[in-house]
Amino acid sequence: MISDNLQKVRQEIQNSCALVSRNSDEVTLVGVTKSVDSSKMKELYDLGLSVFAENRVDVLLRKQAELIDYPKIEWHFIGHLQRRKVKDVINRIDYFHALESLKLAAEIQKRANHIIRCFVEVNVSGEVSKQGLRPEEVRSFIKELANYDKIEVVGLMMMAPYDSTKEEQRAYFTQLKKLQEEIHAQNDSNEPCTQLSMGMSNDYQVAIEVGATYVRVGSALFEEE
Ligand SMILES: *Cc1c(COP(=O)(O)O)cnc(C)c1O
Repeated sequence: MISDNLQKVRQEIQNSCALVSRNSDEVTLVGVTKSVDSSKMKELYDLGLSVFAENRVDVLLRKQAELIDYPKIEWHFIGHLQRRKVKDVINRIDYFHALESLKLAAEIQKRANHIIRCFVEVNVSGEVSKQGLRPEEVRSFIKELANYDKIEVVGLMMMAPYDSTKEEQRAYFTQLKKLQEEIHAQNDSNEPCTQLSMGMSNDYQVAIEVGATYVRVGSALFEEE
Protein backbone atom coordinates (compact mmCIF):
# COMPACT_ATOMS: atom_id res chain seq x y z
CA MET A 1 0.00 0.00 0.00
CA ILE A 2 1.30 3.43 -0.92
CA SER A 3 0.08 4.94 2.32
CA ASP A 4 2.05 2.41 4.39
CA ASN A 5 5.15 2.91 2.25
CA LEU A 6 4.94 6.68 2.55
CA GLN A 7 4.46 6.48 6.29
CA LYS A 8 7.46 4.15 6.57
CA VAL A 9 9.71 6.44 4.50
CA ARG A 10 8.64 9.46 6.52
CA GLN A 11 9.34 7.60 9.73
CA GLU A 12 12.80 6.59 8.47
CA ILE A 13 13.51 10.23 7.61
CA GLN A 14 12.51 11.22 11.16
CA ASN A 15 14.67 8.46 12.64
CA SER A 16 17.73 9.35 10.57
CA CYS A 17 17.37 13.01 11.48
CA ALA A 18 16.98 12.14 15.15
CA LEU A 19 20.16 10.03 15.06
CA VAL A 20 22.23 13.09 14.14
CA SER A 21 20.06 15.73 15.88
CA ARG A 22 18.81 17.30 12.67
CA ASN A 23 15.43 18.95 12.34
CA SER A 24 13.45 16.85 9.87
CA ASP A 25 12.01 20.03 8.34
CA GLU A 26 15.41 20.43 6.67
CA VAL A 27 14.83 17.30 4.57
CA THR A 28 12.48 17.36 1.59
CA LEU A 29 11.15 14.05 0.39
CA VAL A 30 11.04 14.10 -3.40
CA GLY A 31 8.80 11.34 -4.74
CA VAL A 32 10.39 9.90 -7.87
CA THR A 33 7.39 8.95 -9.97
CA LYS A 34 9.09 7.88 -13.21
CA SER A 35 7.89 4.29 -12.77
CA VAL A 36 4.23 5.00 -12.03
CA ASP A 37 1.32 6.69 -13.75
CA SER A 38 -0.45 9.81 -12.62
CA SER A 39 -3.15 7.92 -10.70
CA LYS A 40 -0.48 6.86 -8.19
CA MET A 41 0.69 10.48 -8.02
CA LYS A 42 -2.84 11.56 -7.16
CA GLU A 43 -2.85 9.00 -4.36
CA LEU A 44 0.40 10.41 -2.99
CA TYR A 45 -0.89 13.95 -3.32
CA ASP A 46 -3.99 13.06 -1.32
CA LEU A 47 -1.67 11.59 1.32
CA GLY A 48 0.16 14.92 1.54
CA LEU A 49 3.15 14.40 -0.77
CA SER A 50 3.23 16.97 -3.56
CA VAL A 51 6.90 17.08 -4.55
CA PHE A 52 7.51 14.87 -7.58
CA ALA A 53 10.47 14.11 -9.82
CA GLU A 54 10.58 12.79 -13.36
CA ASN A 55 13.51 11.99 -15.62
CA ARG A 56 11.93 12.20 -19.08
CA VAL A 57 10.65 15.34 -20.71
CA ASP A 58 7.76 13.76 -22.62
CA VAL A 59 6.52 11.89 -19.56
CA LEU A 60 6.76 14.95 -17.33
CA LEU A 61 4.77 17.06 -19.78
CA ARG A 62 2.10 14.38 -20.15
CA LYS A 63 1.75 14.02 -16.37
CA GLN A 64 1.57 17.77 -15.89
CA ALA A 65 -1.36 17.81 -18.29
CA GLU A 66 -3.01 14.90 -16.49
CA LEU A 67 -2.51 16.60 -13.13
CA ILE A 68 -3.69 20.03 -14.21
CA ASP A 69 -6.14 20.07 -11.28
CA TYR A 70 -3.27 19.68 -8.78
CA PRO A 71 -1.60 23.07 -9.05
CA LYS A 72 0.36 22.80 -5.81
CA ILE A 73 2.67 20.11 -7.16
CA GLU A 74 6.36 21.00 -7.07
CA TRP A 75 8.09 19.49 -10.13
CA HIS A 76 11.70 18.33 -10.14
CA PHE A 77 13.60 17.11 -13.19
CA ILE A 78 16.26 14.57 -12.28
CA GLY A 79 17.46 12.97 -15.49
CA HIS A 80 19.87 13.76 -18.26
CA LEU A 81 18.39 16.69 -20.18
CA GLN A 82 19.19 16.95 -23.87
CA ARG A 83 19.90 20.48 -24.98
CA ARG A 84 17.28 20.42 -27.70
CA LYS A 85 14.62 19.61 -25.08
CA VAL A 86 15.51 22.41 -22.66
CA LYS A 87 13.02 24.80 -24.23
CA ASP A 88 10.15 22.33 -23.75
CA VAL A 89 10.59 21.83 -20.05
CA ILE A 90 12.79 24.37 -18.33
CA ASN A 91 10.05 26.89 -17.57
CA ARG A 92 7.72 24.19 -16.32
CA ILE A 93 9.81 22.83 -13.46
CA ASP A 94 10.70 24.09 -10.01
CA TYR A 95 14.11 22.40 -9.69
CA PHE A 96 16.60 20.90 -12.13
CA HIS A 97 18.93 18.31 -10.57
CA ALA A 98 21.30 17.49 -13.41
CA LEU A 99 23.30 20.53 -14.46
CA GLU A 100 26.57 19.11 -15.73
CA SER A 101 27.93 21.18 -18.61
CA LEU A 102 28.36 24.79 -19.70
CA LYS A 103 26.64 23.99 -22.98
CA LEU A 104 23.56 22.94 -21.09
CA ALA A 105 23.85 26.01 -18.86
CA ALA A 106 24.02 28.25 -21.94
CA GLU A 107 20.88 26.68 -23.37
CA ILE A 108 19.06 27.12 -20.05
CA GLN A 109 20.20 30.74 -19.93
CA LYS A 110 18.80 31.27 -23.42
CA ARG A 111 15.44 29.58 -22.84
CA ALA A 112 14.58 30.36 -19.23
CA ASN A 113 12.15 33.16 -18.54
CA HIS A 114 12.86 33.20 -14.81
CA ILE A 115 15.67 32.11 -12.51
CA ILE A 116 16.00 28.32 -12.58
CA ARG A 117 16.99 26.56 -9.37
CA CYS A 118 19.65 24.03 -10.32
CA PHE A 119 21.71 21.36 -8.66
CA VAL A 120 25.11 20.70 -10.18
CA GLU A 121 25.44 16.96 -10.68
CA VAL A 122 28.70 15.49 -9.41
CA ASN A 123 30.07 12.05 -10.24
CA VAL A 124 31.71 11.44 -6.88
CA SER A 125 32.40 7.74 -7.37
CA GLY A 126 33.98 8.12 -10.81
CA GLU A 127 31.83 5.35 -12.30
CA VAL A 128 32.02 5.63 -16.09
CA SER A 129 28.31 4.93 -16.44
CA LYS A 130 27.40 7.97 -14.37
CA GLN A 131 26.95 11.49 -15.60
CA GLY A 132 28.10 14.55 -13.72
CA LEU A 133 31.24 16.58 -13.20
CA ARG A 134 34.31 15.23 -11.50
CA PRO A 135 34.59 16.68 -7.97
CA GLU A 136 37.72 18.66 -8.88
CA GLU A 137 35.89 20.36 -11.78
CA VAL A 138 32.96 21.66 -9.75
CA ARG A 139 34.47 24.82 -8.26
CA SER A 140 35.64 26.29 -11.57
CA PHE A 141 32.41 25.20 -13.26
CA ILE A 142 30.33 27.12 -10.73
CA LYS A 143 32.58 30.18 -11.10
CA GLU A 144 31.90 30.15 -14.83
CA LEU A 145 28.19 30.18 -14.14
CA ALA A 146 28.49 33.68 -12.70
CA ASN A 147 27.62 35.10 -16.14
CA TYR A 148 24.44 33.06 -16.37
CA ASP A 149 21.95 35.09 -14.42
CA LYS A 150 19.08 32.67 -15.10
CA ILE A 151 20.86 29.90 -13.22
CA GLU A 152 20.92 29.69 -9.47
CA VAL A 153 23.05 26.87 -8.09
CA VAL A 154 21.04 25.86 -5.06
CA GLY A 155 23.26 22.88 -4.34
CA LEU A 156 24.99 19.72 -5.47
CA MET A 157 23.49 16.38 -6.51
CA MET A 158 24.90 12.87 -6.70
CA MET A 159 24.05 9.20 -6.92
CA ALA A 160 26.04 6.60 -5.01
CA PRO A 161 26.91 3.40 -6.89
CA TYR A 162 24.05 0.95 -6.53
CA ASP A 163 26.18 -1.85 -5.09
CA SER A 164 28.17 0.16 -2.55
CA THR A 165 28.25 -0.72 1.13
CA LYS A 166 26.91 1.59 3.82
CA GLU A 167 30.48 2.68 4.60
CA GLU A 168 31.18 3.50 0.96
CA GLN A 169 27.89 5.38 0.65
CA ARG A 170 28.78 7.40 3.73
CA ALA A 171 32.21 8.22 2.30
CA TYR A 172 30.76 9.38 -1.04
CA PHE A 173 28.04 11.46 0.59
CA THR A 174 30.57 13.02 2.94
CA GLN A 175 32.75 14.00 -0.01
CA LEU A 176 29.82 15.82 -1.63
CA LYS A 177 28.91 17.51 1.64
CA LYS A 178 32.48 18.83 2.02
CA LEU A 179 32.50 20.12 -1.54
CA GLN A 180 29.15 21.86 -0.99
CA GLU A 181 30.42 23.52 2.17
CA GLU A 182 33.57 24.75 0.45
CA ILE A 183 31.60 26.24 -2.42
CA HIS A 184 29.08 27.79 -0.08
CA ALA A 185 31.91 29.35 1.90
CA GLN A 186 33.04 31.21 -1.24
CA ASN A 187 29.81 33.08 -0.62
CA ASP A 188 28.71 33.98 -4.11
CA SER A 189 25.19 35.34 -3.83
CA ASN A 190 24.10 34.00 -7.23
CA GLU A 191 25.20 30.54 -6.28
CA PRO A 192 24.20 29.93 -2.68
CA CYS A 193 24.93 26.19 -2.92
CA THR A 194 23.31 25.37 0.39
CA GLN A 195 21.46 22.18 -0.57
CA LEU A 196 22.39 18.53 -1.06
CA SER A 197 20.30 16.30 -3.33
CA MET A 198 21.46 12.81 -2.40
CA GLY A 199 19.94 9.56 -1.23
CA MET A 200 17.60 7.17 -3.04
CA SER A 201 15.49 4.22 -1.86
CA ASN A 202 18.46 2.11 -0.86
CA ASP A 203 20.60 4.78 0.78
CA TYR A 204 18.55 7.81 1.86
CA GLN A 205 18.98 7.10 5.57
CA VAL A 206 22.77 7.34 5.35
CA ALA A 207 22.48 10.39 3.08
CA ILE A 208 20.36 12.17 5.69
CA GLU A 209 22.82 11.31 8.45
CA VAL A 210 25.51 13.00 6.36
CA GLY A 211 23.41 16.09 5.53
CA ALA A 212 21.08 15.50 2.57
CA THR A 213 18.38 18.15 2.24
CA TYR A 214 16.56 16.55 -0.73
CA VAL A 215 16.17 12.78 -0.88
CA ARG A 216 14.90 11.32 -4.17
CA VAL A 217 12.89 8.22 -3.34
CA GLY A 218 11.05 6.11 -5.90
CA SER A 219 10.78 2.36 -5.51
CA ALA A 220 10.45 2.44 -1.71
CA LEU A 221 7.18 4.33 -2.16
CA PHE A 222 5.71 1.99 -4.72
CA GLU A 223 6.90 -1.50 -3.83
CA GLU A 224 4.22 -4.05 -3.02
CA GLU A 225 4.45 -6.10 0.12
C1 LIG B 1 15.21 6.67 -10.41
C2 LIG B 1 15.98 7.70 -9.71
C3 LIG B 1 15.85 7.90 -8.33
C4 LIG B 1 14.97 7.03 -7.45
O1 LIG B 1 15.50 5.72 -7.37
P1 LIG B 1 14.82 4.63 -6.40
O2 LIG B 1 15.90 3.63 -6.23
O3 LIG B 1 13.65 4.10 -7.16
O4 LIG B 1 14.45 5.30 -5.16
C5 LIG B 1 16.56 8.93 -7.75
N1 LIG B 1 17.37 9.73 -8.48
C6 LIG B 1 17.52 9.56 -9.79
C7 LIG B 1 18.44 10.49 -10.53
C8 LIG B 1 16.85 8.56 -10.45
O5 LIG B 1 17.01 8.39 -11.78
